[in-house]
Amino acid sequence: MRALLFVLAFAVVPGCTCSGVNRGDVNLVSLDDEWALGDELAAEVEAQTDPLPDAAAQAYLDRLGGALAAQTELADREWTFTVLDDAAVNAFALPGGHVYVNAGTIAAAETQDELASVVAHEVAHGAARHGTERMVKAYGLSLVAGLVLGDDPGVVRQIVAELVGQSALARFSRSDEEEADGLGLEYLAAAGYDPGGMAAMFETLTALRQRAPGPLERWFATHPLEEDRIEAARQAAEGVEASGPPATDPKAFDGIRQRVRAEVPAAVTS
Ligand SMILES: [Zn+2]
Repeated sequence: MRALLFVLAFAVVPGCTCSGVNRGDVNLVSLDDEWALGDELAAEVEAQTDPLPDAAAQAYLDRLGGALAAQTELADREWTFTVLDDAAVNAFALPGGHVYVNAGTIAAAETQDELASVVAHEVAHGAARHGTERMVKAYGLSLVAGLVLGDDPGVVRQIVAELVGQSALARFSRSDEEEADGLGLEYLAAAGYDPGGMAAMFETLTALRQRAPGPLERWFATHPLEEDRIEAARQAAEGVEASGPPATDPKAFDGIRQRVRAEVPAAVTS
């Protein structure tokens, strides 16, 4: 398994301009299989993590995430959004429409537009099907097909452990990251959130990291924030208007963030 993960972390697909439904690439895993695999991985995430016991924060994320997923080409599929009881700033997407956001990410965001930008980025990974693309490239189609059939619970456990603890599998390629930023920005604006929230969140995280790096290490391991990425997000947002009011209330966000900060006191806050 270690060897497989090593391959995964350093897999390079020569000349791949990929990917996902959004770039017209052929994903060898059917959507039905991807959603079945996602449910299996999600069950394992539930075994390895704790949800934040805060119904209001969970309901808020459901509304925000649902509004973003509704902008994707896979809006007719089932999506789930879960706040995890973890003070570290982190978020990840499983194949099959499952998105997880650590409480620490809610605590760190200055505005709901900033939080929405993180969720939009993860929704974009899901909609572009980056997870199954990477898994097929790394493991081969037959192993992934076996996972869909539940043949290899040990591998499922390992994949989820890597995702939850960050690391190899969560680290998408640079082109996947760029695609997720670009699509995420479109979803943000279409759902009524300020597309400028993405560059703002990058700046918030960069500032927080300078003050207290610990809880942000996972984030920066999987989402390197070079200045050019921040600048790209800034430029992409220029001239893009949020369409209509967002599905969630900025005041509700402020209240939820205040409570989440108390619930996960180890979170870095600004
Ligand atoms: Zn990403």
